[in-house]
Amino acid sequence: MRALIVVDVQNDFLPGGSLAVPHGDEIVKPVIDLIEDPTEKWDQVVMTRDWHPHNHISFAKSHNLADFSPITYVSPVEGDDRKIEGTLFPVHCVEGTRGSQLAPEMLEEQKKIGCLIVSKGYLQDREYFSAFNDIWDHHKTELNNYLHCHGIDEVYVVGLAFEYCVKSTAISASKLGYKTTILQKYSKGFLSDEKSMQELKQELAENNVQLA
Ligand SMILES: [Zn+2]
Repeated sequence: MRALIVVDVQNDFLPGGSLAVPHGDEIVKPVIDLIEDPTEKWDQVVMTRDWHPHNHISFAKSHNLADFSPITYVSPVEGDDRKIEGTLFPVHCVEGTRGSQLAPEMLEEQKKIGCLIVSKGYLQDREYFSAFNDIWDHHKTELNNYLHCHGIDEVYVVGLAFEYCVKSTAISASKLGYKTTILQKYSKGFLSDEKSMQELKQELAENNVQLA
């Protein structure tokens, strides 16, 4: 059984938004066509959204630092002494704001087909990229259970942004045992140089994520 996971096609990640992915708007219509394509026979379609409290830990403003400053995150869970290097972002996808809403056409499609929306990033004290779990893999969203309950064993990941939430969602899916593919044509990211793209492809291959 095959599922399509549409990652974070939200106003703040589109041109004009606070953390816009260049050309992010160009995938909206193609993704909707992909959802509607009768030859794909999707058993499930799931849409995800970044959904932060106004003072989220990933916002530079929450630390009185400049946007895109580096940060060292420490695990919010007692007994876990790991640290993860990260980047602080402009305020984006604050729950309930226009920026956090799915792109208008995508929201229309979501209502039409009535698919599940999975929110992530709503716990203030931790960053998320994957739609399955936080960066520490402590807190899990409902996504894995949902796919599991619907007999899904194969997932296709599309959306924004390629090297953040699309990549992390795909790697989580693969680690959880789903046969996982990112459809590159239906995803956009911030990376443009060849070297970073090669490193990204290497990381996906090491995690058994197919790129098609
Ligand atoms: Zn975020």
